[in-house]
Amino acid sequence: MTNHNLYSLFEARFPADKSQTAFEGPDIATYSFQEITDGAARIAGLLTAAGAVPGDRVAVQVGKTVEAVILYLACLKAGLVYLPLNTAYKSAEIEYFITDSEPAVVVCDPASFEEISAVATKAGVRKVFTLDTDGKGSLIEESRGLPTNIETVARAGDDLAAILYTSGTTGRSKGAMLTHDNLASNARTLHKYWHFEEGDVLLHALPIFHVHGLFVALHCAFLSGAKVIYLKKFDPAEVLANLPRATVFMGVPTFYVRLLSDPGFTKETCRNMRLFTAGSAPLLEETFNAFRERTGHVILERYGMTEAGMITSNPYDGERKAGTVGFPLDNEVRITGEDGAVLKDGEIGILEIKGPNVFKGYWRMPEKTAAEFRADGYFITGDMCQKGEDGYYRIVGRSKDLIISGGYNVYPKEIESFIDEMPGVEESAVVGRPHPDFGEAVVAFVVPDGTAEVSAADVTGYIKEKLANFKVPKQVYIVDALPRNTMGKVQKNQLRDRAVADG
Ligand code: ATP
Ligand code: MG
Repeated sequence: MTNHNLYSLFEARFPADKSQTAFEGPDIATYSFQEITDGAARIAGLLTAAGAVPGDRVAVQVGKTVEAVILYLACLKAGLVYLPLNTAYKSAEIEYFITDSEPAVVVCDPASFEEISAVATKAGVRKVFTLDTDGKGSLIEESRGLPTNIETVARAGDDLAAILYTSGTTGRSKGAMLTHDNLASNARTLHKYWHFEEGDVLLHALPIFHVHGLFVALHCAFLSGAKVIYLKKFDPAEVLANLPRATVFMGVPTFYVRLLSDPGFTKETCRNMRLFTAGSAPLLEETFNAFRERTGHVILERYGMTEAGMITSNPYDGERKAGTVGFPLDNEVRITGEDGAVLKDGEIGILEIKGPNVFKGYWRMPEKTAAEFRADGYFITGDMCQKGEDGYYRIVGRSKDLIISGGYNVYPKEIESFIDEMPGVEESAVVGRPHPDFGEAVVAFVVPDGTAEVSAADVTGYIKEKLANFKVPKQVYIVDALPRNTMGKVQKNQLRDRAVADG
């Protein structure tokens, strides 16, 4: 059988001279490609010796280290299914994920070793490791001295490579099953569209339990044999200090907002940069424009999700347009109405996609999986989308966030963009709350920027002048900040809960 193992693809693309640097950074040792591949081989050997067989899951909740990346590669090499967990999850959540995914092996940080071991034993896990050298059964320690010349396990294209839990923005996280071919096709696509090459230096500040930092960013680097400057977390000062050596940076919109708030962030800082990308949440036009003015660079916004990796991207060479996510990548897309019929260009509907990047289904959720795929194989993303006359796609919001008030469809984003334009307003979020007469009523949460006084009545008055009555918020909260998760996504569930509790 042809070997579709993603690890083999990466290895074939690593530089011929393996002594070249693969990872370096301010708080880490420097790792060559040789050290990365040797480490992956040793850990693959150790996981196999611990009884994990191809197809078994390896659940991983660890901080952001290079060893965590080596562990990911080791899992691929051994044919194991990598299952990273958000480091913010506490023990009750971890218990759910471990019970749900039934991993053969769990890898955690030393601080959570006892707690996780107790959960793991109940769930029938074979072995719990830590990653660090701390005497608690560390993968690194125990794999030291193991052979490095072990074979990469052959995998078929639709064998699982990873299970990634979605961010849980709209409800409980779902485990998206991603195959070797899903990941390989997406990696090839991004590598090609974004012109990655060996001389690139990727400044990596994203977490690695999420599709953005793990797959989008690292896979581009692996396919080109580029060097990664690896930051343990996003810290504007560290980014500024390391940007002058980098050529590519990938961020969530909040990263850019924070960089721009530092006067030390200038054209000069970006002198070697060729590409800034943004995604995971909508990039405000204001941020896009301020960034261009300050640095001369135009952020390339793209759109994707755990279930399919990257779906659309603004062009590398053509015009990158604010407020849009560009054009479809190597997947089919269509926009459909409530009855499933394909809509005309310009109409707002739900984005559906089909292609080699689209996942195999949700782990142990056959009904949910069946409900989200059409009979002809299209996956229903749940994102509301519009294709403009210019051919560019715009994400209008999530179908779950759509407000139906007095029988009219209200798109929160439309109201939010008007509120955001008000003097004295930093940002806003609009949600629906059940209403006895209208079905749902519009409620707005508004964050002032401190430059001018903004009251609830000001917001309502302003929107009344601009938009139809059914779009005018029935209630406005002035708040200090919007609740966000680590990827900068606004947690609208929490806002809805608050609006309902008060209503
Ligand atoms: P869950 O599916 O568990 O509710 P989630 O959808 O937030 O959580 P992810 O897979 O991490 O989990 O995020 C994908 C979603 O992020 C997309 O479906 C889309 O709603 C949003 N998104 C990603 N990129 C963009 C973008 N450039 N503009 C607007 N929204 C985006
Ligand atoms: Mg989702």
